[in-house]
Amino acid sequence: MLIYGTIYEARSEIKRLRQSGKKIGFVPTMGALHQGHLSLLEKARAENDVLVLSVFVNPLQFAPHEDFEKYPKTFEQDCQLASAVGTDIVFAPTVEEMYSKKAKTYITVSELTDYLCGEKRVGHFKGVATVVAKLLNILPCDKIYLGQKDYQQFLVVKQMLADLNFDTEAVMCPIVREPNGLAMSSRNKYLNEDERAQALCLFEALDAARALIIDQKMRETVEIEHILRVIIEKKPAAKIDYIFIGEAESLTPITHIQEGSQILVALAVFIGQTRLIDNVLLEVSL
Ligand code: AMP
Repeated sequence: MLIYGTIYEARSEIKRLRQSGKKIGFVPTMGALHQGHLSLLEKARAENDVLVLSVFVNPLQFAPHEDFEKYPKTFEQDCQLASAVGTDIVFAPTVEEMYSKKAKTYITVSELTDYLCGEKRVGHFKGVATVVAKLLNILPCDKIYLGQKDYQQFLVVKQMLADLNFDTEAVMCPIVREPNGLAMSSRNKYLNEDERAQALCLFEALDAARALIIDQKMRETVEIEHILRVIIEKKPAAKIDYIFIGEAESLTPITHIQEGSQILVALAVFIGQTRLIDNVLLEVSL
């Protein structure tokens, strides 16, 4: 496995591989790898000749009060895990390598960022779209693998790739969970044992949403949201940032669920100081 810290070296190697006709799969991450990341790497490994991982905690997608400084860093372990699943290249640049102080160009994706994390973390998706575009210009690849865990991020990246004519296909991979249902996340490392138990309320609420919408055919979102709120607020450490029930394709909220639609139920909840997100996609049959 080759590890590069400079744009020049990584770009040269990818260029050489592309010229020899290799199909390249790319998994961008912020490191602190867990089984969720590894599932993306495994899928990309199976579908491509060359597997590229990036590890870069992108300052541009963090607001000043967020956890950029304390974001977990486990680079040596990340490399061991990446190597074990057959990663060929790791690109791990410094912030200085990625961002010139003179940079003046940023990418914003409209509409898809109006709600959910786009509304609550202003500027976040500008940081995400910009860094993904930069990474793909450095490491042009055939497919980029992203998790449903960050569903809005997936849609934003997919839209950006289409709008800016990137020759890269976005592939969405399912959410990997702990056996008890907690979605895996690098930020779970911040939780103490008690918070970890309370964090299960996200999964419990999403599971309730599925039962209400699919099994009980509840259709008024204000009623569904109320029930989810009660489930989450039973946990003393939980503070709701948002509950979103809306169209999965456009990411707009709805008041009434139509038969035959695809619905996203998404949550952001603080457990103590730690902000966790999770979601479920539901096909509402006719
Ligand atoms: P991050 O390192 O948090 O930026 O995540 C890198 C990629 O891994 C993103 O595409 C995430 O959506 C994906 N990811 C993170 N957690 C999970 C999970 N539990 N299941 C599947 N994909 C995940």
